[in-house]
Amino acid sequence: MIEYWNPQIERMPVDELKKVQEQKLCQLVKYVYEHSPFYKKRFDDAGVKPEDVKTLDDVTKLPFTFKKDLRDTYPTGMFCVPNNKLVRFHVSSGTTGKPTVVGYTDNDIKAWSTSLARALTSIGVGRDDVMQIGYGYGLFTGGLGMHYGAEEAGCTVLPTSSGNTERQIELMQDLGSTVIACTPSYLLFMIEAARDAGISFQDDTKLRVGVLGAEPWSEEMRKRIEDSTGIKAYDIFGTSELSGPLFTECQYQNGIHIWADQFLVEVIDPDTGEPVANGERGELVITTLVKEALPLIRYRIGDITVLNWDECECGRTHPRIMRVLGRADDMLIVRGINVFPGQVESVLMDIPEVGEHFMIIVDRVNELDIMKVQIEMTDAAFSDKVTDIMDLEKKVAAALKSVLNIAVKVELVEHGSLPRSMGKAKKVIDNRKI
Ligand SMILES: [Zn+2]
Repeated sequence: MIEYWNPQIERMPVDELKKVQEQKLCQLVKYVYEHSPFYKKRFDDAGVKPEDVKTLDDVTKLPFTFKKDLRDTYPTGMFCVPNNKLVRFHVSSGTTGKPTVVGYTDNDIKAWSTSLARALTSIGVGRDDVMQIGYGYGLFTGGLGMHYGAEEAGCTVLPTSSGNTERQIELMQDLGSTVIACTPSYLLFMIEAARDAGISFQDDTKLRVGVLGAEPWSEEMRKRIEDSTGIKAYDIFGTSELSGPLFTECQYQNGIHIWADQFLVEVIDPDTGEPVANGERGELVITTLVKEALPLIRYRIGDITVLNWDECECGRTHPRIMRVLGRADDMLIVRGINVFPGQVESVLMDIPEVGEHFMIIVDRVNELDIMKVQIEMTDAAFSDKVTDIMDLEKKVAAALKSVLNIAVKVELVEHGSLPRSMGKAKKVIDNRKI
């Protein structure tokens, strides 16, 4: 039986859903124009007035917003409410420049929790579950965001935050965690640490579901995690600018449902800004329809994805974004060819002898880009003396070349020598930027 958090909204016919979006969009445009000097100026500069937006299609008249806008107006220049209406801040540390600050009204926190509660219900997580949250608590949205959503969905929350891995595993066993929420990298780290201590996730814990995200990960990595732990691993999506973790796949693991009564999704050609045809790959653009403190209009998330409005097997009518391989920001250009770290991961995880940890290193030697991938062998392949190192390196290089279309040097390194991560893993070292 399929359960819904709010069947009336989640199964609303698409034409009704679009009417709801249209009405909310018109209200939103008026609201931001009246409450935020930033948006008023941005709209005036683009020559668009709130009354120009009468239908859903009129959204394309509105100017885009970017992460840069949040940085340029640091800390709260894009906010639409005074501080006394806010109940919380989150801050994301930028690798470059100023961090971005996100503020929430009481209603914003409620909408965020509802979004996650719907998502968790769609993967069968709720009242009977103990959810261990291994996302960092604090300025990062992962921990607290998931916490409120899981409580709303009825779970018993075990707020371990990230780190202290031995204790995580001990509590997981003692308190019977059935759901783990963390980055896929951190789950891999936990699996490895448990194995070293002689503990099997499959036999010695009650874990049945992983709610994994905050970094891109591949279908092949999912298979690895599911096979080695016996859990069902679900992808989660959201960014701090939109609130934090907001959406997951449903039980069918075929795209992430975006709640269309709360968010308006477009997919555009990143170069021209024009919408791509339905089902085509493009850059994700999201408008927040119900946020009060920091609404975002046509925000360029930067993820490359495909939007799917077909009704899902689960009966939900809300559109799905297909698994995100990476952000436009993460894309490497090596000898003129676009390479996503997620593509490299897909290839590596499809080769049984290759372990889960890898590092991509890009250098420029004599004006030429050189890409190297460091890998570790799995324990099984390592103990099997028959695996020839040279052969494996050649096999991996050939597989990478066939997918990426560039020559890649593959280097097998000692087991355990690549960095492990308790949060978002760093998988690329680009020496060309230094
Ligand atoms: Zn579904």
